[in-house]
Amino acid sequence: MFYADQHMHSNISFDSHTPRTTMAEAALGAGLSALCFTDHYDVVDENGHIHPTYDWQPARRQQAEACATLGDQLVLGYGIEVGNAPENFAAAEGVLQEPGLDLVIASIHNGSAALNRVDYYCADYDSTALCHRHLEDYFGSLLQLADWGQFDVLGHLPYPLRYMRDRDHQPVTLDPYQDVIREILRRTVQAGRGIELNTCLYHPDSAADYAGILTTFRELGGEIVTVGADAHTPNNVGHAIADGYQLLCQCGFRYVSHFVGRTPQFHSLSKEVSSHA
Ligand SMILES: [Zn+2]
Ligand SMILES: [Zn+2]
Repeated sequence: MFYADQHMHSNISFDSHTPRTTMAEAALGAGLSALCFTDHYDVVDENGHIHPTYDWQPARRQQAEACATLGDQLVLGYGIEVGNAPENFAAAEGVLQEPGLDLVIASIHNGSAALNRVDYYCADYDSTALCHRHLEDYFGSLLQLADWGQFDVLGHLPYPLRYMRDRDHQPVTLDPYQDVIREILRRTVQAGRGIELNTCLYHPDSAADYAGILTTFRELGGEIVTVGADAHTPNNVGHAIADGYQLLCQCGFRYVSHFVGRTPQFHSLSKEVSSHA
């Protein structure tokens, strides 16, 4: 049994208060075999400010501490979640020169300049019209990301629905965006990259979103999928990872990817899921 949570934050991120070692202890407690720290580097931050560089020192220090404490008990990946790279691809590429990276997740957390770079988390979705304006802009940014291709997996594809549907109860779905999602996935496959099944707030609606995305990805020849709980606190470490593995199986995938040195290691799902059952 090899459960790997491939998306995790620590207090190096602006929105977490927990050191890496404590998150790693939680991962051990949750029965995980591996995790990857993917703290935020947002080219445009939650306030809409541009950051062309990133200070890796805190991540290097905390990674070394966590490895010294728990590195003999589970695999501790050294990664990053790069947000809003289309705002400045060159800046993102510079930051990704960091040696020893295991995994790069590319995400879009903010609207583009046309939407004043609003953070989806901060927006107040009081109408479906506003949701659709943001979703059109969002998928446009994801197309640019897929074309860029300098990442390992695309992060949480249905991300804005967390706030539009799950938090603000707007009746929006991904249905009107199936064509653009297909194109994003096609370009991702063409670039030899993967996608992430993000199990933060995992519920029947989000599972259905991912079932559609994963099925299309597989039809297009996509094989690389990571699973990550996007935990910002110890209690969410490993959340619904087993459910994510099961959904991958249901969508016809035989392997889940665990990234080491920015290279996917393919773990057989039949073995993982059945040995856990
Ligand atoms: Zn994210
Ligand atoms: Zn995240």
